[in-house]
Amino acid sequence: EMEADQELIEQPTISFKDVGGLEEIKEQIRMQILYPLQQPALFQRFGKRIGGGILLYGPPGCGKTFLARAAAGESQCSFINIAIHDILDMYIGNSEKNLHGIFELARRNRPAIVFIDELDALGGSRQQMRFHGLRILTNQLLLELDSIAANNSEILVLGATNSPWFVDSSLRRPGRFDRILFVPPPDLEARCAILRIYLEEKPTEAIDYPQLARQMEKFSGADIRAVCERATEAVLSEAIKTGQPRPLRTSDLLAALKQIRPSTLEW
Ligand code: ATP
Repeated sequence: EMEADQELIEQPTISFKDVGGLEEIKEQIRMQILYPLQQPALFQRFGKRIGGGILLYGPPGCGKTFLARAAAGESQCSFINIAIHDILDMYIGNSEKNLHGIFELARRNRPAIVFIDELDALGGSRQQMRFHGLRILTNQLLLELDSIAANNSEILVLGATNSPWFVDSSLRRPGRFDRILFVPPPDLEARCAILRIYLEEKPTEAIDYPQLARQMEKFSGADIRAVCERATEAVLSEAIKTGQPRPLRTSDLLAALKQIRPSTLEW
């Protein structure tokens, strides 16, 4: 049996408070893993299983990975973050064993959240799959998901993709990734929340959050973070020149956001 590397296990320190917006998705994830861990008898009484599979989709940079890691921190679960290409690359020709090894690792470290990125890389319909290896890997993932469901394992599998329509339909059946959640570009309120998260611990002065958020339509969470970093660098470079540090102001962020192209224009 192939052992997956213990180093794949993370114990995240971030939690849901570090993720701006996405409140409904957070609550759905709590219902699948946090609440059942907190109140096992209640969940057993109502015949509601712990863990299972959720498919997250949406534009890049809007927090799928970040949310998954935060979910693990929130519910004190071990976290494994792996992409389909990593599984294929671990040992050529043994991808199904690699995948099994990852789930074994999750079981040994449960409760656990396994984040699998690039689920669409498994291909379109299974009949059309060009590579035999991808079909074997897909079948193994089906086995692992069914085994988690059958054994009520304390494992939540969060799958992610930018292209849900390419995810194999066999993976989207009940008991597998039966919940498909859109992780959208942040709306106005979420953009304010994300700005606050990244500016909170810095010296600031009268930041006009709503005004900034309005100017950041189509910005992903990653874009917003980049804006905050740029503005911070500008203020720092000024401070180094003048020897007079000053707090970040709205105008610094407005200048920074003009230099960043929003990355969810097509969504
Ligand atoms: P990809 O499809 O490219 O993998 P993703 O949806 O998984 O994208 P993440 O990697 O989770 O995106 O996000 C990138 C970074 O952007 C995160 O590490 C985080 O710093 C920031 N970020 C994204 N969304 C949020 C959010 N809602 N709140 C706070 N930070 C966010």
